[in-house]
Amino acid sequence: MDLDKLIRDRIRDVPDYPKPGVLFKDITPLLADHVAFAGVVDAIVNHHGRGTVDKIVGIEARGFILAAPVAYHFGAGFVPVRKKGKLPARSYEETYDLEYGTETIEMHADAFGPGDRVLIVDDVLATGGTARAAAELVRRAGGEVAGISVLLELSFLHGRDKLGNLDVHALVTV
Ligand code: IMP
Repeated sequence: MDLDKLIRDRIRDVPDYPKPGVLFKDITPLLADHVAFAGVVDAIVNHHGRGTVDKIVGIEARGFILAAPVAYHFGAGFVPVRKKGKLPARSYEETYDLEYGTETIEMHADAFGPGDRVLIVDDVLATGGTARAAAELVRRAGGEVAGISVLLELSFLHGRDKLGNLDVHALVTV
């Protein structure tokens, strides 16, 4: 199976969403195709290797969809990063600039044990602000960022440049 081609075929361009001038990459056709969805989850797990991390961090909301099955197949725990105000217990927060607007995300302060190795999973790496804020939350909560995996990297937005020497893995880059 040519996973790269399958992924590209199943990501839909939606012009002017969520605002004029933005070309939104819609992954819902990919999620609806069980071969593509499973292929993506397996590819993320295989890239890192089972047993190499303790926790998978998923970023609300589309990141959850990928991160939860990745955590299951890794044999790792799942930790949510959520939009501000959604987590019930004591949390850390980070605010950052988005491609469109600003955002604040949070993570429970007690999400990790000492020395937990953490893989951050999201659907799209755009300007890198979300991934950088998530990595900062992981560090503040006592985890060690082992890497960041995304389904799709929009390389023209240079998100990687914000992530220093973190190990960034994208299944597909446009
Ligand atoms: P960044 O912070 O600019 O890298 O944006 C990444 C975050 O915004 C991720 O959590 C994505 O879910 C979301 N995002 C940005 N652009 C797109 C897109 O074209 N399609 C889907 N999600 C996007």
